[in-house]
Amino acid sequence: MSSPEVTPLTPTLATRWQVALIDETLCVGCFKCIRACPEGAIVGAPRWMHTILHALCTGCAHCLPPCPENCISFLPAAPPSST
Ligand code: SF4
Ligand code: SF4
Repeated sequence: MSSPEVTPLTPTLATRWQVALIDETLCVGCFKCIRACPEGAIVGAPRWMHTILHALCTGCAHCLPPCPENCISFLPAAPPSST
């Protein structure tokens, strides 16, 4: 007898292997990363430092190329919670 297939409720987040991090001491608030993020995972206002909501970040790296300050890096993602 085969086991039933288990489908994660959030497949993209369940398989992510990295999350983005902004060095807020270098961020100039240019807004370019927010425009590039398909998940709405970056918050901030023009000319103010931006930050990333790790609960929403899929690690897609679309925010990386537009950043003029090269202040976005990536951390290994924690395994998805089983709760
Ligand atoms: S890695 Fe992708 S999802 Fe995460 S903040 Fe950057 S653009 Fe958004
Ligand atoms: S693109 Fe870079 S400098 Fe511009 S708001 Fe995003 S993190 Fe800050």
